[in-house]
Amino acid sequence: MCDCIFCKIANHEIPSTVVYEDDQVIAFDDLNPQAPVHTLVIPKKHYSDIADNVPAETMGAMAHAIQEVAKAKGLEDGFRVISNKGVNAGQTVMHFHMHILGGKNLGENLI
Ligand code: C5P
Repeated sequence: MCDCIFCKIANHEIPSTVVYEDDQVIAFDDLNPQAPVHTLVIPKKHYSDIADNVPAETMGAMAHAIQEVAKAKGLEDGFRVISNKGVNAGQTVMHFHMHILGGKNLGENLI
């Protein structure tokens, strides 16, 4: 039994606001948004972070999901994608995820 919160979200054991889903990935709104749009994209299979030998196919599915989220959220004016890896980056959930931030001018700050 996986004790990872994002695995539970991916399996729909914990509810989330799903923005996009296919057989490989799921995108859902962040519980603590840092911008008007703040959606997370995760692979359904568990990888600890972006450097955890994530297959190219999975990365492609993530990229496709980002495009679908941008369309669904109306982010024509731009958005930012961030993936934190490890302690120095401030990663808090050890299941690979990409943040999609938008809905306002984000300026030059990283997040
Ligand atoms: O990149 P980092 O690991 O810091 O980001 C984790 C993100 O997951 C945070 O933005 C946090 O708000 C989000 N989160 C969530 N739902 C949870 C736990 C964390 O949206 N149940």
